[in-house]
Amino acid sequence: MTTPVVKPNVVFVLGGPGSGKGTQSANIVRDFGYVHLSAGDLLRAEMNSGSKDGAMISQMIKNGEIVPSSVTVNLLKNAIFSSKSLNFLVDGFPRNQENNNSWLTQMSTLVNTRFVLFFDCPEEVMTNRLLKRGESSGRSDDNIESIKKRFNTFKVQTMEVIDLYKKDDKVRIINSDRDESSVYNDVKSLFQSLNF
Ligand code: UDP
Ligand code: MG
Repeated sequence: MTTPVVKPNVVFVLGGPGSGKGTQSANIVRDFGYVHLSAGDLLRAEMNSGSKDGAMISQMIKNGEIVPSSVTVNLLKNAIFSSKSLNFLVDGFPRNQENNNSWLTQMSTLVNTRFVLFFDCPEEVMTNRLLKRGESSGRSDDNIESIKKRFNTFKVQTMEVIDLYKKDDKVRIINSDRDESSVYNDVKSLFQSLNF
């Protein structure tokens, strides 16, 4: 008899830059035992590792552009399959249709992509959070020029992906224009109600 293969569950965490994806993901990790994979963090680590793609990644991050999925999906796939966990938060991905198509092609038979957790927040609030974070983050893209480019990329490319998942009723929207604990109350209720 062969052992049944259990596919890992993946929840995408999306929302504009500064919408609270990373902050709320950390709360979910603490209370629900998910593994948090930030696509942006994986790309920054790849860039700092001296990879051949480092210069391209660095340039694209500064300009708020989306790194080709050939790089990002491999990083995510390696991270998922080098972990024994069954539940993953994939934060900040997929950011456009090209990302999403590669994910579907490479991952749909290997994992269960459950839903998109979407943090909805006004641009003005996100801008203030990012500028505040920029005082200490050391990130090349937490400055007003890069922030404007990131918002544009989000509106033009990422919202299209959210709309695709909405059509399948696979988006759970959380208003993140509130303090961290109020937002987390809603996130927590949602995760308590999941049945996978
Ligand atoms: N990025 C990308 N593909 C991804 C995730 C991130 O190209 O799948 C790049 C993109 O340039 C983005 C930057 O990394 O603007 C920072 O992403 P991160 O998710 O860390 O920023 P956040 O949205 O959390 O502020
Ligand atoms: Mg983040």
